[in-house]
Amino acid sequence: MIQKEMLTYQQLDGELRRIDRELRKNENFVKRRQYKAARQECEETIARLDARAAELKAQLAIAQQAVQKTEEVIEEHSREIGTLEDEDELNYMNKKLNEQISELNAAEKEVKRILRECEDIVKAFDEAAAKLPRLIAGYRKYDEEFNRSAAELKPRVNEIRAKQAELRKSIDDQIYDVYKKIFDGGLYPVFVPLEDGARCGGCRMEMPRAVVDAQFADKPYMKCEHCGRIIFKDE
Ligand SMILES: [Zn+2]
Repeated sequence: MIQKEMLTYQQLDGELRRIDRELRKNENFVKRRQYKAARQECEETIARLDARAAELKAQLAIAQQAVQKTEEVIEEHSREIGTLEDEDELNYMNKKLNEQISELNAAEKEVKRILRECEDIVKAFDEAAAKLPRLIAGYRKYDEEFNRSAAELKPRVNEIRAKQAELRKSIDDQIYDVYKKIFDGGLYPVFVPLEDGARCGGCRMEMPRAVVDAQFADKPYMKCEHCGRIIFKDE
């Protein structure tokens, strides 16, 4: 037999779990979670756009520098060409000039591409920034509503916790540790009665009677191999 205090403690945990479940089903809780997720997503978008904008700014500076440098070279080549008379030299310089002109075209194209992406970023940024205040306000509204519902249940929760604290004093440490470990793992109830002499009162798994009898021969409880609960003999 498991201590009566331990079983009452477990029952109270069951009530806390019910209260918690009710709260999670609460419409305000659900809405709050939705707004929180939407807000987070929006803030992440803004941060991502910010980072991309910084990257583009750096890329733009490099691309503009390339344009400027190529323009200078072109100007220099053009000046040189004006002074040349030898046909071979002229051909050579023309070839070099043409190379620089295609480089200039490429650099200008790159600048345009960056500016186009900047426009897209600004647009997306404005959209996200316009949406954010509504999401923050929505989150706050449902957060307040939810906290109100939770506050209404607070006295009962406190009452249960106080009772549990009182019971805890009489519960054997070893049995409490077993309970806590399984309970924290998400199983409830942890302690279940043996049913019809051979069935787990938690998962209803039937066990060979000989196995059960052997398990109970030297101690008042056994672990269910199937669900991991602790089965006790209710006698
Ligand atoms: Zn079981």
